[in-house]
Amino acid sequence: MKLIQSCDELKAWIGSNVAADKSIGFVPTMGALHMGHISLVKKAIQLNDIIIVSIFVNPTQFNDPKDLEKYPRTMEEDMALLSAYKIDVIFAPSVNEIYPNGEKSNTKYNLGGLDTYMEGAHRPGHFNGVVQVVLRLLDLIKPNSLYMGQKDFQQFSIIQYVLKDLNLPVELVVCPIKREANGLAMSSRNERLSPLARANASIIYKCLKRSKVLLISQSVEKVKNYVEKKFEKTSFELEYFDIVDVFTLSPINDISQSEYVAACIAVSIEKIRLIDNIIIKYPKVK
Ligand code: AMP
Repeated sequence: MKLIQSCDELKAWIGSNVAADKSIGFVPTMGALHMGHISLVKKAIQLNDIIIVSIFVNPTQFNDPKDLEKYPRTMEEDMALLSAYKIDVIFAPSVNEIYPNGEKSNTKYNLGGLDTYMEGAHRPGHFNGVVQVVLRLLDLIKPNSLYMGQKDFQQFSIIQYVLKDLNLPVELVVCPIKREANGLAMSSRNERLSPLARANASIIYKCLKRSKVLLISQSVEKVKNYVEKKFEKTSFELEYFDIVDVFTLSPINDISQSEYVAACIAVSIEKIRLIDNIIIKYPKVK
């Protein structure tokens, strides 16, 4: 496992260590790693010859400077965790390495309108920043496949859209959500929750699972009301709970209107945002 911090060194390493017939699996992260990240690493190892993991807290995807400042940075622990797996390179560049001309970019990527919903509506510019850094990393690494989590539902949808739109030769592999014992989706942000909030946050996945059952017999409107009422009784602030079409991300009012449906939720507590989702309905295999 080699730690590389400069783009030139990374390109040189790939040039001299990756034969033309070898596949590169790439796992982008912002560090503060947990077993959710590791599930992506394990999948990449199963399917590829060379594994590259990046650790980079990307400033351009934070619309709240305080959130960026508070984002956990745990490089030593991350390296120790990753050392148990057969990873070839950890790429941990500085901001200046990734954005040598400054991090401000005037490029507005075509996100097909997918950024107008949910996270995009609550975090202006967030997905433009995500796409900016992912494209920069893909250009440097040129992986065969890219590993992302279903946890960041809208993120993988948007990256999938951009890969197709730009016709980039990289396969996106989406990995299932890893959860803590109480059902809370693992997240680097969970570390910042008080023990009580972390325990009570089990309500998020419970609500998602209950909604899935309720949607078999009840309308979207009724189920949304049910979730809103549930959260009113807690100290969690419900930012959104939307039932969406997986391809367009647009909210739907009737799940029979769409073949592929997910419920997505964002709540905040103790000034920390938590997101989660569940697939309500899969397309029928034809
Ligand atoms: P982050 O470091 O938060 O940017 O996450 C890096 C990657 O790990 C993203 O593709 C996330 O979707 C994925 N990820 C984060 N949390 C989880 C989780 N609980 N289960 C599976 N994948 C996750």
